[in-house]
Amino acid sequence: MAKIQMKTPLVEMDGDEMTRILWKEIKDRLILPFVDLKTEYYDLGLPYRDETNDEVTVKAAEANKKYGVAVKCATITPNAQRVTEYHLKEMWKSPNGTIRAILDGTVFRAPIVVKGITPTVSTWKKPIVLARHAYGDIYKNSELYVDGAAKAELTVTYPDGRVDTKLIHDFKGAGVLMGMHNTDASISSFARACFNYALSLKQDLWFSTKDTISKTYDHRFKDIFNEIYEAEYKTAFEEAGIEYFYTLIDDAVARVVRSEGGFIWACKNYDGDVMSDMVATAFGSLAMMTSVLVSPDGNFEYEAAHGTVTRHYYKHLKGEPTSTNSVATIFAWSGALRKRGELDELPELVAFADKLEAATVGTIEDGVMTGDLYALSTLENKRKVGSIEFLDEIAKRLA
Ligand code: NAP
Ligand code: MG
Repeated sequence: MAKIQMKTPLVEMDGDEMTRILWKEIKDRLILPFVDLKTEYYDLGLPYRDETNDEVTVKAAEANKKYGVAVKCATITPNAQRVTEYHLKEMWKSPNGTIRAILDGTVFRAPIVVKGITPTVSTWKKPIVLARHAYGDIYKNSELYVDGAAKAELTVTYPDGRVDTKLIHDFKGAGVLMGMHNTDASISSFARACFNYALSLKQDLWFSTKDTISKTYDHRFKDIFNEIYEAEYKTAFEEAGIEYFYTLIDDAVARVVRSEGGFIWACKNYDGDVMSDMVATAFGSLAMMTSVLVSPDGNFEYEAAHGTVTRHYYKHLKGEPTSTNSVATIFAWSGALRKRGELDELPELVAFADKLEAATVGTIEDGVMTGDLYALSTLENKRKVGSIEFLDEIAKRLA
């Protein structure tokens, strides 16, 4: 059988640890036999990020802007322990943070629902899509440790010399403080991305912040969403029979847990980070969550929502068997290939992405699964397999 041809390369961002191992195996077993894969490769593994003083991350993000579609492996965000472990020159920033700051945009995360895995929350019947703002807030903050009594102020200097100052805290002793920001432009593009996504899925959109406490910062988000909705989307929502509503994040959490799912929940950057892990885990596993970053100028970056699965990697290094779930990473590839196929008008590539996802879901629904799902599945004929055997089972069905 002739391999499916591609036109434009995908931007391929390799990563770390267990997901780096799976990355290669997924390509070798599930993609290369069927697709004449074209990629522009960037190694975002921590050793190479360190070697290039993290410039490779910036280059990868710029390539994503040039070509439009990227697929990214999970990467280590170094902390003090990683600096020692990898002998790093510096505690490099989160690659995802760097990429999101360059691309801007919104991350949409949706659980992959399979037969046999029932959500922890018994009322949930349909997937909940989490829309996470991917720019600013604490991910682009400036923090300081104050080592003794000190007056901390927030100062804004305008080009015309105007200065705005506000007291943050009159420290009597040591403490911490942080400055963060967002922009009207980024919040507006976040809002439009969410409204467009809701219309494309024909699902209600919920948006929540803590505007009662953060009367300027969070309130700005609420106002921008509301203004854009009223001016640009209200009619389309009414025609589609869907609803937009804003509610306080505490109220949203309570409503989400009581809901039956089937809507999009838009959250600020940090809330979205935490809530998407909660939603993914309650739907089954972090490894059963798709994640795509949609930028305002129409670029897409597909990834898994989980990390590099360090604990499994250390077992792998010791030669012990692993049973790591590769579904989210496979769906990152299928999502990116499908989008590339749509943009380049390659229906065979789109169809391949559909088949790869169907074979993956089919494998699990046939009872063949990794340990994380095995612990949860209600299927009677379930069988736990190792990381590689799982890929081979998918490959069998795909062929
Ligand atoms: P993690 O890699 O997501 O793993 C946490 C735990 O969740 C694992 O130990 C495992 O539980 C379970 N798990 C996650 N993914 C799984 C999978 N595919 N299959 C089976 N089980 C899975 O998070 P972490 O351990 O907190 O972070 C590890 C590294 O990843 C860190 O260096 C962090 O910086 C990085 N990270 C990267 C990203 C990203 O690039 N998007 C996101 C988050 C974290 P059991 O051990 O109980 O089996
Ligand atoms: Mg997270």
